[in-house]
Amino acid sequence: MEFDQAFFLIFLGISAILVISLMVWGDWNEQKEYKLGKKKIETIRSDVEHIDNKIDIILLDLGKWINKCRKCNSSVNFIKKYSEKNINLSCEGCGKINTLNQFNDHKYQIDSIPEFYYSMTKMQSITSELRDRALPYIQDIYFSTGKSLIGKSEYNFLHSLKHNYYQDYKTQKKYGFHWNPQIRIFSDGEFIDKINSELKTKKIEKKLGKRRKELSQKIIDEWNYLKIKSGSKNKLIKEWAINSNAKCPDGLKCGSVSFKDLKISQIALGHIIPQDFAREMPHLQSQIHHPDNLYLTCNLCNSALGGNPPDNELKTRIFNTGTIGDWIRDKLTDID
Ligand SMILES: [Zn+2]
Ligand SMILES: [Zn+2]
Repeated sequence: MEFDQAFFLIFLGISAILVISLMVWGDWNEQKEYKLGKKKIETIRSDVEHIDNKIDIILLDLGKWINKCRKCNSSVNFIKKYSEKNINLSCEGCGKINTLNQFNDHKYQIDSIPEFYYSMTKMQSITSELRDRALPYIQDIYFSTGKSLIGKSEYNFLHSLKHNYYQDYKTQKKYGFHWNPQIRIFSDGEFIDKINSELKTKKIEKKLGKRRKELSQKIIDEWNYLKIKSGSKNKLIKEWAINSNAKCPDGLKCGSVSFKDLKISQIALGHIIPQDFAREMPHLQSQIHHPDNLYLTCNLCNSALGGNPPDNELKTRIFNTGTIGDWIRDKLTDID
């Protein structure tokens, strides 16, 4: 009886020591892995943050090539897929799919597309070890024991970056951490607007023909005030001014508004030598309506002049922006 009791006590003792040692060993092992994880993060932290910042800048640049969604007006896009040559986007509002191409028929080229691809590839490879190391922690949070430290720092570090390169996922049997290409781009449209307006200007210039140095009588006859004060030529000149980002040279009333911010009907043809002079001096009529005596201005500034000629300062500014004659001479052209 005594022998059995002693044996039982010894057995109990050994079991307890074994359990405690296992716990201590487990704990010690966890601490070791935890420290190793922290160390690994520190060795790549600056590289990862550098790429993260670079991707952030690239995304801003890409946004300049995208306008708001035509269908739903949303300005948020998700990247669905990307390669060296194109990026597939989906509108957050309506799901409309849109593709950005690096090359666009020699019209323009988006260099941030391959840059995005290379930076993302680098990000994925440099962080893949941390991703793998974060897995035990993810299983832990989904199994809700919430005790393990292993992989916690790696998980938190990857989620502390500017963009969500990884996403947690869980199926019935699996818990994991996915590489996530669905990064957001906010549309800004600055570059694509500029390109489109340049293309439009070129088209108008082409429509008007090729350059000439001097204005022939024929041009003067066709482009004098009486011919361009309304109709298709009037519209053509105003559209040209809008697309070439010209501003009201006067600015007294409008603060030098860009013509593109005005409606065509809010843009006026001004005379340098006032039109009224033609009534008093009919022999000057042809000079007064000559394209070189005409300039574009805004309605407000034009009526503020009240029939007076522009002062010298305004004249200088008109000549800098160009008279209609200058525009025909330099920008528009021969119309045969
Ligand atoms: Zn949309
Ligand atoms: Zn003005």
